[in-house]
Amino acid sequence: MHALISGASVAGPVLAYWLRRHGWRVTVVERAADARAGDGGHAVDLFGPAVDVIERMGLLDRVREARTRNDTITLFREGRAPITLATADLATGIPGRHIEIMRGPLAGLLHEVTRDDVDYRFGTVIERLDGATAVLSSGDTVDADLVVGADGLHSGVRALAFGPEERYRRFLGAYLAVYTLPDVLGTGPTVAAFTAPGLAATVYPTLTPGLSRALFLVRSQQELRGDGKEILRGLAGDRLGPRVAAVLEHLGAAGDFYFDDISQIRMDSWSRGPVTLVGDAGYGPGPAVGGGTSLAAAAAYVLAAELATGPVDDALRRYEAALAGPVRHSRRIGPSVLGAIVPRNRAQVWLTAQATRLLPRLPRPARRWLTSFGGGPAAMLDGLVLPPAGATRS
Ligand SMILES: Cc1cc2nc3c(=O)[nH]c(=O)nc-3n(C[C@H](O)[C@H](O)[C@H](O)COP(=O)(O)OP(=O)(O)OC[C@H]3O[C@@H](n4cnc5c(N)ncnc54)[C@H](O)[C@@H]3O)c2cc1C
Repeated sequence: MHALISGASVAGPVLAYWLRRHGWRVTVVERAADARAGDGGHAVDLFGPAVDVIERMGLLDRVREARTRNDTITLFREGRAPITLATADLATGIPGRHIEIMRGPLAGLLHEVTRDDVDYRFGTVIERLDGATAVLSSGDTVDADLVVGADGLHSGVRALAFGPEERYRRFLGAYLAVYTLPDVLGTGPTVAAFTAPGLAATVYPTLTPGLSRALFLVRSQQELRGDGKEILRGLAGDRLGPRVAAVLEHLGAAGDFYFDDISQIRMDSWSRGPVTLVGDAGYGPGPAVGGGTSLAAAAAYVLAAELATGPVDDALRRYEAALAGPVRHSRRIGPSVLGAIVPRNRAQVWLTAQATRLLPRLPRPARRWLTSFGGGPAAMLDGLVLPPAGATRS
């Protein structure tokens, strides 16, 4: 059996690894020119079952070794003393194992353990799809038994097989901007955090000494169109104080600026014939607020396990059934996390500061409750039972 997977970030390589273990032939096309390594992209979270999947792939030690090392977070407030908190306190509400890692190194490790026996084609996309026959941008035609879109929120496979993104996109009322800049704040390994009504920003070190990355979350009820840098400048202005104004000065020069709306992908079913979706492509819970990485890794493993045990159409039905609960749960997370980390008004800005100050002094159960984000990203996978690792490589 031959699978053609689009996307080589998280879901794609995890699926490729397990399909190879189950004896499939695997081709992966990826739009980017090479495997992501560099200095990281953004931080992502692996919770519970996703950590189990990484462990079963023999990668646990290397992923742990590559984890982020931002052990403290400092909330800066205009005219007031900053408040510093151990990130471990913020993680009290996370049950089970949790690893934070930059997406680049994670994707790099996943590529490394699959590259020897998976046919990776970088700088390539699927241009046409007829059942499981795909015409690639390279001009090649691939005649597969299964085509999988693991190509993220703006999935090309979804557009080809299920229609335009607008049909499935649910805007959560906020935008996200990320870019790299010199370490102008000089805050070292701590995550610097800032809030104002409708706005939250964090600035944290990258893996490259002397560089940091800024991440902005901005509420907006209207959908905004136009140049992301201009939109961010307009919305943030100087409302987060002089430190963030200094960060915004580097916006113009940022070559890796990323700006997107925070939206979920909501589909009733993410399989059609021999085509299916995995990870953000089929049920993205919202970038930066939804725990999509864990869902992507665990779901890819489940999909491979189902494909190992029967015909493709039955396997896809069982895959959807297994994921239905976690996917439904994941849709509640983004709005709840946004509510907790981007204050709506001055009162909430004040409350956030008080909660941050008090958190380390609270008894553990209260800390757990305050940091669980209403059952949050970690809990969404609670109901998911990972099938045994199954067949070995043929
Ligand atoms: C700024 C930001 C911050 C985030 N923070 C967190 C966080 O703190 N915690 C967390 O868990 N998650 C976070 N996420 C979400 C997380 O990155 C995703 O949920 C996760 O990466 C999903 O993995 P995936 O493999 O499904 O898709 P993606 O990681 O999106 O990968 C899709 C891959 O497909 C490729 N691709 C796209 N289109 C095509 C095409 N047409 N053809 C071929 N290839 C294509 C892309 O280049 C990419 O390599 C964040 C996302 C962003 C943008």
